[in-house]
Amino acid sequence: MDANLKIGIVGGSIGGLSAALWLRDAGFDVTVFERSPVPLEQRGAGIGFLDETSKFLGERAGVDLDTISVKTELVHFLHRDDTVKYEKKQPYRFTSWNTVYQESLKAFGPERYMLGKEMIGFSQTDSDASVQFSDGTTESFDLVVMADGVHSQARKELLPDVVVHYAGYVGWRGLTAATDVSEATFDKIIDKLTYYTLANSHIIVYPIPGHSGSVKPKDRLLNFVWYRNYLEGDDFDDVMTDATGIRRPVSIQPGQVRQVHVDELHASSKARLPALISEVVCAAKEPFIQALVDCEIPKMAFGRICLLGDSAWVARSHAAAGTAKAADESYFLAQALLEADSVPEALANWEPGRLKLGRELVDRNVRVGRRSQVDGNHSPFDPEVTFSLYPPKP
Ligand SMILES: Cc1cc2nc3c(=O)[nH]c(=O)nc-3n(C[C@H](O)[C@H](O)[C@H](O)COP(=O)(O)OP(=O)(O)OC[C@H]3O[C@@H](n4cnc5c(N)ncnc54)[C@H](O)[C@@H]3O)c2cc1C
Repeated sequence: MDANLKIGIVGGSIGGLSAALWLRDAGFDVTVFERSPVPLEQRGAGIGFLDETSKFLGERAGVDLDTISVKTELVHFLHRDDTVKYEKKQPYRFTSWNTVYQESLKAFGPERYMLGKEMIGFSQTDSDASVQFSDGTTESFDLVVMADGVHSQARKELLPDVVVHYAGYVGWRGLTAATDVSEATFDKIIDKLTYYTLANSHIIVYPIPGHSGSVKPKDRLLNFVWYRNYLEGDDFDDVMTDATGIRRPVSIQPGQVRQVHVDELHASSKARLPALISEVVCAAKEPFIQALVDCEIPKMAFGRICLLGDSAWVARSHAAAGTAKAADESYFLAQALLEADSVPEALANWEPGRLKLGRELVDRNVRVGRRSQVDGNHSPFDPEVTFSLYPPKP
């Protein structure tokens, strides 16, 4: 297709930036529009750095992945008394949301990354797609990629019947400096992915680069995610009401969770978790909450507009594949555009594989979540527990 294809991307988080990088790399004219007036920061914490997420930075931007991520070789599952129940060799890389965002923004550059541009409407004709912004401007493109996240305005307008479902549990998350835990705890978990399974719940701990970006063991942070059930209604509403009294829809930022719930987290961790994991949980400065949600969609391509990342399918985090899905969708979108004669043809060719992947990822995460949070048979031998975008081989 014409190398001068003009592409607008709405949303400048990791999804929007991966699309921007792959599409510009394919030779197209790409601009990102992010509503935040300042670069995004401190959102989320650790992420599994799957191959799809690291592909552009490692292969196209020339970033040495060893300098921006921590490699682990072993996964171990603990008994309540801290001893190892089961250990297996399974290499992973972990990094932080901020690292991926900052490295991606550095690779894309600031010139076409437009901050303070909030989309308030969009439309399309046979020959172009337009976006209206809150500052009164309108811009037209050959293709508009909607990467406006889990609460996507684009998804609401294009697919009004689709809803985002609360899965019945939240991820309590936090970061602890590696130097804030005892030497014994440090030695046992600083280079591994650690699991503990309990009734209707499980927790994982893994190392990520420190706030300075250093990957040296003593500089690292220990990231935990503890999956805990809250009944929809009063129970969930209460934990999702932040320190200022506002009921948050899906996440409460660090420092904003009410103290009564932080106290309960600490007490439960001491009573229910292996001591070394509880030590990590209790030492985290500002634990925060992300509710687990599912969103399933019947379509991703709409003529000259498409949905991508969390504005399309939203899968729970058990496969650690949120950013990988966005990156993979972006890579294949660029390929489809290169191979087709028109934008609608490219989107029509791109869509079926992306719908299939979204379906598989959501379903696999639902099954893993059910085993952990409901059925009580979350197992270290379950191949579906593997962190991966595509279904793991049995
Ligand atoms: C708060 C938060 C923390 C997260 N932490 C983790 C994590 O630790 N690990 C992990 O694997 N995944 C995490 N994720 C999920 C992961 O970041 C996403 O799966 C992945 O990055 C793809 O997201 P996205 O870019 O599609 O959407 P988002 O990250 O939600 O980004 C959407 C972007 O669109 C912008 N936007 C929204 N509406 C408009 C509009 N009208 N006009 C212009 N811009 C708009 C938003 O400001 C935002 O920057 C997190 C997501 C969020 C929201």
